[in-house]
Amino acid sequence: MTGSLAIIGLGPGEARYLTPSAQAALEAASDLVGYGPYLERVPARAGQTKHASDNRVEVERARHALALAAEGKAVAVVSGGDPGVFAMAAAVFEALEAGEPSWRRLPITVEPGVTAMLAAAARAGAPLGGDFCAISLSDNLKPWEVVTARLLAALTADFVIALYNPISKARPWQLGRALELAATIRAPETPVIFARAVGRPDESLRILGLADAVAAAGSADMATLVMIGAAATRLIPREGTSPIVYTPRSVTKSPCATSQGRT
Ligand code: SAH
Repeated sequence: MTGSLAIIGLGPGEARYLTPSAQAALEAASDLVGYGPYLERVPARAGQTKHASDNRVEVERARHALALAAEGKAVAVVSGGDPGVFAMAAAVFEALEAGEPSWRRLPITVEPGVTAMLAAAARAGAPLGGDFCAISLSDNLKPWEVVTARLLAALTADFVIALYNPISKARPWQLGRALELAATIRAPETPVIFARAVGRPDESLRILGLADAVAAAGSADMATLVMIGAAATRLIPREGTSPIVYTPRSVTKSPCATSQGRT
């Protein structure tokens, strides 16, 4: 039997957010590889073996998946959200690049999933209507100076900014610092979205002004996606329900020209 590898995005939460294509790829697998909690989301199927691992050992897990595929297994590597966004797809290709030359002959496919940023944006309205970027606040894989340099550039260029991995027990202060930095550049009333566990039963959404968001940073956790609005991002208040957050598509003035004027 010829082996294969599918790198699959499970979407943000419940199975209804899984694409039919990803579902078919999951069903076709003989072996599932991934971080334990993600594997638990996939219903057990007779004849399918699950190989759970710790969250921190991505490249090792990727090598294991490639080795299983090379043995002839139909392997599926699973990630939450989209596998290409701060997740397993890059780890698999890193392992492929450094690994056995024969692995390059394996058929490898990537099945996209709904990433947390898009799921969160949909709940809030249309905050990503203009230009935006995504930054992981985790400094496990890159120095914190790189994170702040990128944040500063994105803030100066007036992108809406989605912050992944905002906080964890091992990284309790990064989100506070990031929001403080944002508050030196953006207005205090800039909408900030805290979207937690989107697509899961315990989902919650909070919309705060930037000044309040700085104070609330400690209430975010690993399951939270934080989104900082741009200058044009605004709220449509509604009685009895949460406001809509959106960013109009049209831009009339240049933030870069403004910042160049300042420096
Ligand atoms: N590949 C994933 C991201 C992995 S990084 C994706 O595409 O969504 C993990 C971070 O993603 C978390 O710390 C959190 O910031 C965000 N995240 C993942 N699932 C989420 C969800 N359901 N709701 C809110 N944020 C989520």
